[in-house]
Amino acid sequence: MNIEIQTTAKSRLPEVDFDNLRFGHVFSDHMLVADYADGEWKSCKIVPFAPLTFSPAMATLHYGQSIFEGLKAYKSEQGEILVFRPYDNYKRMLRSAERMCMPPIPEEIFMEGLRELLKLDKDWIPQREGYSLYIRPFMFATDEFIGVRPSNTYKFIIFTCPVSKYYIEPVKVKIETHYTRAVAGGTGYAKAAGNYAASLYPARLAQQQGYHQLIWTDGKTHEYIEEAGTMNIMFRKDNRIITAPLSDSILAGITRDSVLTLAREWGYEVEERPVPVKEIIGYLEEGSLSAAFGVGTAATIAHIVTIGYEGKDYQLPPLEGRVFANRVLKTLDDIKYGRVEDTHGWIWKP
Ligand code: PMP
Repeated sequence: MNIEIQTTAKSRLPEVDFDNLRFGHVFSDHMLVADYADGEWKSCKIVPFAPLTFSPAMATLHYGQSIFEGLKAYKSEQGEILVFRPYDNYKRMLRSAERMCMPPIPEEIFMEGLRELLKLDKDWIPQREGYSLYIRPFMFATDEFIGVRPSNTYKFIIFTCPVSKYYIEPVKVKIETHYTRAVAGGTGYAKAAGNYAASLYPARLAQQQGYHQLIWTDGKTHEYIEEAGTMNIMFRKDNRIITAPLSDSILAGITRDSVLTLAREWGYEVEERPVPVKEIIGYLEEGSLSAAFGVGTAATIAHIVTIGYEGKDYQLPPLEGRVFANRVLKTLDDIKYGRVEDTHGWIWKP
């Protein structure tokens, strides 16, 4: 498909204060916009980043038929643009689209659109340690219609935001035993907007109790650990890396897959299996858990320092001793910034 490009008359780049970037508040000059109607993708354009206009009856606003993705582009010391596993985000978006009765996005629009967008806004990718360009592809229903049924029209958009380091603070998390992020048979494996809306209230309650985030447990029994905030969660005990298996209530994180791949290569035993809350609390009580951490695109690794459960806080070992998580972070950063050879084929160059 032909991508029509309309460039901005005046770049906003000179106005950006890269020393004080707030995550998700600064948007690059351009965005990609593709429109779907009458059973086909009609157009694909790159235009200046700007507000959209829509009807108050637009289906998304009422019934939440909306999905998104999140990935990052990095700049190497040589100034090359490196994107981490974008094709995996593309495939996950197709799975999300199917679950939400939305049309598949052609690979050409997602990948070629991303290529053109990144080439055009390459100066927005900061060439600084720890910085990157966060990429937000998303699709939403645009029918002007009130009634619950899949929309006939959609917009697919990609915009980008320069970002500095995120979530580097070690986190204090609480194991949630009442509220649920996702249930078996539900939409947890899709990156659907509504999943995030549903998580806000329990997360706020936890924050009021002094925690940063929640550890989500299964919706049926609350006896098994699933995810942490908007990350997958892993535990290290001796030579084992333990994490919940993928299911329809867990988002298949691309960082999760990368971390488990490295763990296997380094000789750790990877256990993808149901993780009982009681097992982890048992390790915490005997002081035998080496580490717990969230894994996701935003932070790569978020060290967990405290886990709250049934009114009691358990402290985890100091960060210096967390050999595995620290090695993962360094290795993934080296790959993302092109400092080492990409032996896994994880880097895509637009
Ligand atoms: N779980 C949830 C619920 C998430 O929103 C995310 C962030 N996309 C993740 C896990 C981590 O996924 P990824 O490593 O692909 O960023």
